[in-house]
Amino acid sequence: MGAPEAFTGAFSSTTEVGHFVGGQPVASTSGRRQPVYNPATGAVARQVALGSAAEVNAAVAAAQAAFPAWADTPPIRRARVMNAFLGLLNQHRDTLAAMITAEHGKVFTDAQGEVSRGIDIVEFACGVPQLLKGDFTDQVSTGIDNWTLRQPLGVVAGVTPFNFPVMVPMWMFPVAIACGNCFILKPSERDPSASVFMAELLKQAGLPDGVFNVVQGDKVAVDALLTHPDVKALSFVGSTPIAQYIYETGAHHGKRVQALGGAKNHMVVMPDANIEQAVDALIGAGYGSAGERCMAISVAVLVGDVADKIIPKLAARAKALVVKNGMELDAEMGPIVTRQALERIESYIDIGVQEGASLVVDGRVDSGTGKPFTVAGHEQGFFTGGTLFDHVTPAMRIYREEIFGPVLACVRVADLKQSVDLINAHEFGNGVALFTSDGNTAREFSRRIQVGMVGINVPIPVPMAWHGFGGWKRSLFGDMHAYGEEGVRFYTKQKSIMQRWPASIGKGAEFVMPTAK
Ligand code: NAD
Repeated sequence: MGAPEAFTGAFSSTTEVGHFVGGQPVASTSGRRQPVYNPATGAVARQVALGSAAEVNAAVAAAQAAFPAWADTPPIRRARVMNAFLGLLNQHRDTLAAMITAEHGKVFTDAQGEVSRGIDIVEFACGVPQLLKGDFTDQVSTGIDNWTLRQPLGVVAGVTPFNFPVMVPMWMFPVAIACGNCFILKPSERDPSASVFMAELLKQAGLPDGVFNVVQGDKVAVDALLTHPDVKALSFVGSTPIAQYIYETGAHHGKRVQALGGAKNHMVVMPDANIEQAVDALIGAGYGSAGERCMAISVAVLVGDVADKIIPKLAARAKALVVKNGMELDAEMGPIVTRQALERIESYIDIGVQEGASLVVDGRVDSGTGKPFTVAGHEQGFFTGGTLFDHVTPAMRIYREEIFGPVLACVRVADLKQSVDLINAHEFGNGVALFTSDGNTAREFSRRIQVGMVGINVPIPVPMAWHGFGGWKRSLFGDMHAYGEEGVRFYTKQKSIMQRWPASIGKGAEFVMPTAK
């Protein structure tokens, strides 16, 4: 593959990424905006509009106006729009990936993978006629049939994080729209461009105006969605404190809410594991996307004598990571999303040292020169190297808190039971992995672990489109996972219809509870 064309759009540092409402791009009227950075260079690349309550209200009104006709559109015709969208996504896959790298920083090949995992959900949504097929019981009583069907909710909204600006919105809107709802996306203000491009592709695919809308913004726009009486449901993905706020506020305003939160994902390495495979898995899952994945592995739980075998190998590999502008195809790790996030991540390294953990590799320092870590030609970029801690204990903040960066903490335990107890005591329960060569160990672990998504010799077990994604404990507020059949249930409400036809008319009023006759 040749070098991909970088995404610059028709933008300069003062051009605004605006909203998309009622089938049209809409410039901001709030007067509020904030810079969007290219994290590889540190330069301001463009500005993003920050929507007001009035702008949210206009988007909800456009969605509400489009809803009756879209809800009445036969599911197979809605599926055909999804299918046309799928074709356009495949055509523009690399443009979307370049947009992700330009604003998020992750390496281009990883961004391509993100787009592909989003496309999986669109493929799933193309099967919506089958997914909406109800249950029917003939003759529940003499001459009476009963069936259930699922109908769309109305206007629904999605609020998404910076770390997957294409995939996470696609966990939501393809399923919501295919089910007959109208959707308002409030993307992350750090990487907003892909949202507007996806809106344009949906329009090209034949989606009626107003069915999919984008309002850029921050807390102001989110609060307007959370309190708007016409927004019937809200899907959120982001950090745990905000997820909890969204869940509580949305429920208070009578909405259906699913709010996916933060994570601290462990990977247990048993003494019988293939050590080389485990090292590859820890390096890829710990430092891939600079650790800014909700399914990143941030804790290695090393059982028995594994630590002494694995730590030197991890250290060598962490020091050798190829860190550079994500548009360069040999890059293994790109920059951190913002300078503020970089400073927060690096501050945790000091905290770990103060708490008494062993700093095996310090990502703030170039291991070759001993000077502060920089990438040649990108001195103002938001770069750090991979950091590795050993002898981390459960009381330490670097163990308890989500760092969301390329910092891998190693905890040493004696046996499998200790590893299960450790993980089950953690406040988060998003993903977990176990590396072993023993089937019974794997089975016991999978059954006993209090985590929503489990990988056996698979470090990042993100479920496929038809299985649904969701963590346990404080990694998910609400009871429905994202996408898959859980997604269809979340975006629809069940109706039960019981029906009897003329032959039974004329029997007179019945005053007793109907029972099967
Ligand atoms: P974030 O919580 O800061 O922001 C998420 C969204 O909420 C953004 O759209 C943002 O504009 C909005 N927001 C921020 N502060 C708000 C407030 N006070 N009131 C209302 N809305 C607010 O998260 P982030 O930094 O963009 O993303 C990283 C976080 O997301 C990490 O914690 C990561 O684990 C989590 N995440 C979780 C999953 C999952 O599936 N569980 C997936 C991806 C990311």
